[in-house]
Amino acid sequence: MKLDAPTLVTVTVFVMVVMGALYLLSWSQARQTRALGFLGAAQVVGAAAITLFGLRDVIPDWLSIGLANAVMLVAFGLMWCGARSFEGRRIPFAWLAAGPLLWLAACLVPPFYASLGARVILSSAVAGLYCTLAARTLWHHGGDRLPSRTPAAILLASEGLLIWARIPATLVLPVPPTGTPVQTGWVAALCFVALLYTVAVSVLFMALAKERLEAEQRRVAGTDPLTGIANRRALAAEARVVLGHGPAALLLFDLDHFKRVNDTFGHAVGDAVLVGFCAAARRVLPAGTAFGRLGGEEFACLLPGADAAGAASIAESVRLAVAAMRPDRAPGLVVTVSVGVARSSGTDGTGDFEALLGLADRALYQAKAQGRDRVVLAGPGLRQVA
Ligand code: GH3
Ligand code: MG
Ligand code: MG
Repeated sequence: MKLDAPTLVTVTVFVMVVMGALYLLSWSQARQTRALGFLGAAQVVGAAAITLFGLRDVIPDWLSIGLANAVMLVAFGLMWCGARSFEGRRIPFAWLAAGPLLWLAACLVPPFYASLGARVILSSAVAGLYCTLAARTLWHHGGDRLPSRTPAAILLASEGLLIWARIPATLVLPVPPTGTPVQTGWVAALCFVALLYTVAVSVLFMALAKERLEAEQRRVAGTDPLTGIANRRALAAEARVVLGHGPAALLLFDLDHFKRVNDTFGHAVGDAVLVGFCAAARRVLPAGTAFGRLGGEEFACLLPGADAAGAASIAESVRLAVAAMRPDRAPGLVVTVSVGVARSSGTDGTGDFEALLGLADRALYQAKAQGRDRVVLAGPGLRQVA
């Protein structure tokens, strides 16, 4: 197969400019996602570098060699910055400038500039390093699991290795005695590889951005905005998983006379009490317990594998923790909670969340009827615990 360099240069530049423009457009619509800006800039700057490389013999060498390589290194550095920005890491502007500046400084040394091998080794070393650092940034992330993360890291690492492979190749292969690089085909090969990687890296980064957005939307859709805990929908989904795995207990909490709290101290204090209730309950509930706000001042949690005595004891601990709350903004306010407890054996049809909630609600109703600030167990002849 014969790769025609001018055609490939033209196609690569067009593809990179279009990809870059799409990224910059996405960034202009979501300014907080700075990674899109860095990646868009990387594509456009990369297209400028390829253009300069492609104009070898048409424009002076200091442009098609000296400047072209510096611009190409900026493009690789921007891609690394894009990966860091995506992971919420600091942008290393000094290191972004260091690679191209090192190259330009080296070009001022005549023996270096005259040696094709030395130039290939330095530019490949720096470009490969930026690629590898970008791969490492995606691989060693401290954040979310995204399906496209591993493929993107592997792709960038392979690009880095491919670029570094030019170093031993330069040392082993003889320098062509005659002909320009365009004639020897290296610009064509460079463009071909750049084109493949540009498309693949762009698609994977776009996929990463989309996957993160979707994960964030899922999180927001399942979170109660006031208290930050699961909302009814998310709790129901978690409950289905817990109840599908065997016996479990459901604790249904309802703050007592909460309307009075609002009426006496104001809605803002009411809100603070709801947040305080969640914090108090969380401190007492076993780690990892599915806990959510059903609405208003009603909350629920699921205790997998808990028997009646265990569930009642945890409910009682929450009740006591709430009674001990002393909201800063409402001195003298004593908050109490009533709790209805229902158990699912996992086999008797109570494994349905809504059905279990119905049972717990009846127990809660009894707790309210008996004077509030207490725990009642659902079952034949509802039983008060405290
Ligand atoms: P009971 O002991 O019978 O449960 O009485 P209660 O006053 O707690 O129950 P009721 O259902 O009469 O009142 C619940 C109140 O909760 C009414 C509503 O204004 C208040 N509420 C619901 N959601 C919020 C909220 O997000 N913030 C605040 N501050 N109040 C809320
Ligand atoms: Mg209520
Ligand atoms: Mg209430």
